[in-house]
Amino acid sequence: MLQTSQLVKRYDKNLAVSSISFSVQPGEIFGLLGPNGAGKSTTINIITGLIRKDEGRVLVGGADLDKDLVKCKYMMGIVPQDLAIYSDLTAEQNVRFFGSLYGLKGGKLEENTKETLEFVGLYERRKDRAKTFSGGMKRRLNIACGLVHRPKLLILDEPTVGIDPQSRNHIMESITQLNKQGMTILYTTHYMEEAEHLCDRIAIMDMGQIVAQGTLPQLRAMVEEHWYITMALKGEVPMEQLRMVEGVEQIDIRDHRYRFSCKQKKNQLRDLLDLLIHHQVEITDMDINEPDLEDIFLTLTGKSLRD
Ligand code: ADP
Repeated sequence: MLQTSQLVKRYDKNLAVSSISFSVQPGEIFGLLGPNGAGKSTTINIITGLIRKDEGRVLVGGADLDKDLVKCKYMMGIVPQDLAIYSDLTAEQNVRFFGSLYGLKGGKLEENTKETLEFVGLYERRKDRAKTFSGGMKRRLNIACGLVHRPKLLILDEPTVGIDPQSRNHIMESITQLNKQGMTILYTTHYMEEAEHLCDRIAIMDMGQIVAQGTLPQLRAMVEEHWYITMALKGEVPMEQLRMVEGVEQIDIRDHRYRFSCKQKKNQLRDLLDLLIHHQVEITDMDINEPDLEDIFLTLTGKSLRD
């Protein structure tokens, strides 16, 4: 459905995207995961024809973006990060406008507008102006505008940033539902939970490059010589000494829990426990975990996704 090869985009000397290649198969949900500034939006903007690439090739449904821009654009639905809706228009007028941009007319335009508004849960509010909507409703309207022409490939750029959990769940469920109906999805996010729950395959991006890509099990296999211990601790935690424990590569603090990334299964657990007991730190909970995407990112790049 989508093939990108060796995409490059420079802003002066800054390499925003540096030789990126990935493919999205029909019917797949493919995620681009990376921290802010990783190059996700730049990649999406190249694919959707919004900005010009310096190098590389994009094929959408087999059509070359450079030669057949219009054909490619009809196949894609775009949900940009910055809201693309008109706040003085009603929900219905917004969706209808985007539908007409994609060549829908007459009965087909009305039918698609109605169905799309129902799908995103805004049909009851169709006569209200977008400016009266909450942040989550605006995001849903933004999605409706990208969907109205029934694209084969729906591209969403961080569609859940800055919204309440309920709207976020609604959006995640909608995407799953669209995918079940056969739509191919390209999704960018810096939330690892979203990528983990939603995506069939994930490309992990950092500093304009893809550092790893594959299914979650394939990505986990890339860090298989590591293991991960999580502890809830009470008291004066001796961070410096913990960092010195042999085989402990990283300590990541998440939700007040200490996550130890350890190289090879050796004596780290015993050494950590000895040290904590010696410093009279109370261990209120402990787990040995499979790596999640945060661990994988940290292990591959030495940085946290949340930085
Ligand atoms: P992400 O979407 O992952 O947050 P972006 O693609 O927005 O990342 O940005 C990647 C890099 O390119 C960043 O260093 C950003 O500052 C830079 N960049 C993006 N757009 C521009 C622009 N229009 N001009 C200059 N630099 C840009």
